[in-house]
Amino acid sequence: MTVFLVGAGPGSADLLTLRALRTLERAEVVVHDRLIGAEILALVPSSAEVYDVGKTPGGPDNQDAINELLVRYGRTGRTVVRLKGGDPFVFGRGGEELAVLAGAGIDWAVVPGITSAFAAPLAAGIPVTHRGSSCGVVVVSARGCERDPELARLAAAGLTIVILMGVARRGAIAAELIEGGLDPATPVAVVESASTPEERVQRATVGELPAMTVTSPAVIVIGAVAALDLVGGTASR
Ligand code: SAH
Repeated sequence: MTVFLVGAGPGSADLLTLRALRTLERAEVVVHDRLIGAEILALVPSSAEVYDVGKTPGGPDNQDAINELLVRYGRTGRTVVRLKGGDPFVFGRGGEELAVLAGAGIDWAVVPGITSAFAAPLAAGIPVTHRGSSCGVVVVSARGCERDPELARLAAAGLTIVILMGVARRGAIAAELIEGGLDPATPVAVVESASTPEERVQRATVGELPAMTVTSPAVIVIGAVAALDLVGGTASR
């Protein structure tokens, strides 16, 4: 194996999986995203070459350059770790990177991570599928099918909606859901920087979402469960 696509979890180093830690500890080259914090980077061997290829939301897309870097180092046979926030296959473009590696004939492996889609609600004491309040959960990116009227229908039918990358578009998302028939009084929780010292939880309603002050990265939870706090915000600690 030469290139490992590793999920780093939501932020806190103790939410890495053992496999992620062991892979990181033998890395010779690390290519990481913007959301990987200092606590996790401190676990990288000091002998490793480390590249920060983080993209800023709305900034230039350097995916081609990242792919090139992975192929270049993958060909050297060194142990390359492509470190991504959360789980590498949840809105992380991990699948695209693997396809490029496979196309170049480079060996690869994927190490799963704890996704912020579930860790962030949990940090706020929200069980995303709490029996009696929610019959399921839908995870969407605010750059995809959030405009689909079907989403409002699913939310109105009692499914929990978890939105990633939704900070900038939260006003439009709320408007589209309400237009699609969702009650503006539906509970919302916004969880910023889950599992890090900057973690912050705010609760409101869909009608209030556009006017909220939110700092990225944040996960937006919509549905009856968003009003719950079963652990007083301490479950992640
Ligand atoms: N693969 C990642 C998601 C990448 S998309 C995962 O599985 O978690 C980036 C988005 O993830 C951010 O815009 C934000 O919505 C969310 N996110 C990542 N880390 C977060 C954290 N610690 N707290 C809240 N949201 C987070």
